Amino acid sequence: MIKLALLDVDGTLTDKTRLISTKVVETIRDVQKSGTLVSLVSGNVIPAMYALKTFVGINAPVFGENGGVMLDADVEVFFSMEKPKRFFDEITGKGMAGNLMTNQWRLCSMGYFPKNGSEDEIISLSGKHDLEIANSGFSWHILNRGQNKGYALNYLRKRYSLDLDEILVVGDSFNDIPMFLDKVKKAVPANAELQLKKKADYVASVPYGEGVTEILQKISRF
Ligand code: CA
Repeated sequence: MIKLALLDVDGTLTDKTRLISTKVVETIRDVQKSGTLVSLVSGNVIPAMYALKTFVGINAPVFGENGGVMLDADVEVFFSMEKPKRFFDEITGKGMAGNLMTNQWRLCSMGYFPKNGSEDEIISLSGKHDLEIANSGFSWHILNRGQNKGYALNYLRKRYSLDLDEILVVGDSFNDIPMFLDKVKKAVPANAELQLKKKADYVASVPYGEGVTEILQKISRF
């Protein structure tokens, strides 16, 4: 039986223009009323996660910066800003990347957009600095090693003393793979990358938030 659903935001609850599905907001409230915990994990910043938690009414802690920061009653930062910021300064200084407006709210990662076809070069440079690059399909992130959605999953598992098969994860893109663990229940909206569809226990018939609504309405069957 699923006790906790951990959901990605962009491309999962939202469409490709980042509009959140009003249907999925209602469905999240419904499953919470029937006793399921719901958490969100995103590459986005904590102020955005604060707004989602507050205005949607999410009942479990939520995570920003790919799992690096948690918002519950207070904000808890699990990783350091030092290395991501130094690397960000290096690649922007060399003209390889540009700044994201949301960086002013980041606590342990940096966002960027690659310039002049430097995508692969940045990824290869990041390895030398013991950093990881994640691309959500919406933006690029510089992260500390181990700072990923699997970290958030593990935190929630311990906090609520859950078995892996009592957790449902839903995501659409490559930065969701660290939470797509073997024993965890995995579902994807129809727009998900093929690699995630192959790992999923269930693929929704429709994309984005409407697909997640379909998944959450079947949560008792997982
Ligand atoms: Ca996503």
